[in-house]
Parts: sequence; structure tokens; C-alpha cells
Amino acid sequence: MMTERQRKFREQYRAAISRYYSGWVHIGVMYSAGITAIWYCVSQLQGASWEWLLLVPVLIAGNFAEWGMHKYVMHRLIDVFALRAIFDRHTRQHHQYFTDNDATIDTVREFRIVFFPWRVLIVLAVFGVLFAWIASVLINPNAGYIVFIGMIGHYMVYETFHFCCHVHDNWFVRNAPFINTIRRHHTAHHNMGIMMHVNMNLTFPIADWFLNTSDLKRGLLGHLQRLQRRACHTRAEARDGALSHVRNAGQARHARWSSAERG
Ligand SMILES: [Zn+2]
Ligand SMILES: [Zn+2]
Repeated sequence: MMTERQRKFREQYRAAISRYYSGWVHIGVMYSAGITAIWYCVSQLQGASWEWLLLVPVLIAGNFAEWGMHKYVMHRLIDVFALRAIFDRHTRQHHQYFTDNDATIDTVREFRIVFFPWRVLIVLAVFGVLFAWIASVLINPNAGYIVFIGMIGHYMVYETFHFCCHVHDNWFVRNAPFINTIRRHHTAHHNMGIMMHVNMNLTFPIADWFLNTSDLKRGLLGHLQRLQRRACHTRAEARDGALSHVRNAGQARHARWSSAERG
């Protein structure tokens, strides 16, 4: 059930969307630019082989970058122009619009509150070119193109997975591996009580598992696949258990270390 406050916020937000805004143009431009960039980089490769392995470190770094941006920029007010705008857009708008009580959209116009604005892709492309250039100088041009493919590809996955978190329940989001996982993970994150602390990943909850900022108390595999039978991992449990879990995690780790020292 949506609260009165959330309903009001949604009404105001929707009324403020420019009449020139089109959800299809918004995501059409974003996906075409991203896919064209990836296609171009693939077409420039010359006999790439082992260089594809670079995707592993790039995607792992991307997973931690996504975690860090979400925790330390999107949920922390830093009073510098662009960073403050990101905080406003995420903590003050996205998280008012969607709560764990009602986390879905009904119309294409609401794409505006789900997808990042185009400038995020542009900023990412600038950093992508920089890292790709460094890789091309240090290793070879194939490496440069593959680094760029990894960065843009990760972003496309991020937007797609996050979108899947905010659509109405359907067969696909219930059954697609990884998407059903992140949907539970991110809906729990939309709980106002825990949003500043846990479930910061938006693609695969690897950094959340590694850094102990997940509402689940499971290993990596348990984080990556959603086990339907374990129905006890619900939002209510997230709400009640997450904060104490996060607090206890530090102590537990400490206890493990000291017992390891003793043993
Ligand atoms: Zn969200
Ligand atoms: Zn958030």
C-alpha cells in the first residue's frame, strides 16, 4: 500500500515532467548510443584473444564502483554542484518515488525517474576513453577497446537490471536468473530504514557480499541466485534484520579473526 506522502510526491513529480519529455526517446538514445559504441569497438578489434580476459577485472572493478557511487555519492550529500544533484535525484527523488511498499511504475513517462539522464552516459564515456587509452598504451589497442566495451556494457546491464526492479511483477522478472535476484535485493534497499546502509549493488550483489553490506546472511552463491524456497528472506526480515546484521557483521568478523589467531 502506498502511503499518502508517497502518493503526493508521485503526483508532484509527474506534474513537473516537461511535456517535451519522451520515455522512449530517453532510453532509445541511451541504448542506441551504448550499443553503437560497443559495436564500433568490436569492429575495431584485430585478432583479439587473451585480451578478452580483461573483462574480468573491468567488470569486478565496475561492480565495486557501482557500489561506491551508490553508497558514497547517491546516498551522501556532498555539497558540490554535480554531486549534490546526484544525491537529490537519487535519495530525495528516486527513493521518495519508490519505497519497498510500492516500487513499480505504470507508464512510460515514469522512465524519467528510473533511468539516469543522458549526461551520465557521457561522463562514463569520457572516463571510458581515458581508461581505454591507458590500456592501449600500456598493453595494446585491442586491450583499449575491450576495456571500453566492458565499461559501457556494465552500464547497459546496470540500467536494464534497475529497470527490471521497478516494473510490475511478471513472468520474466520472476524467473530470469540474476534479474530476480537483484529485484529482491533492490526492493529491500528501497526500504527507508535501510536505504543508506545496505544493498548498494544494482547488477550482481558481489560488492555487497564482500563488504558485508547485504541484508542477507549468505555466501556469494547464495547472493547470486535467488533460492525460491528460502521464503524467510523477505522484506520484513530485511527491515528488521538488516541494520543489526550490518552492525553485527563487524563484530563477527573481528571474532573470526581473533579466534583464528588463537587457533
Ligand atoms: Zn531503484
Ligand atoms: Zn539507493
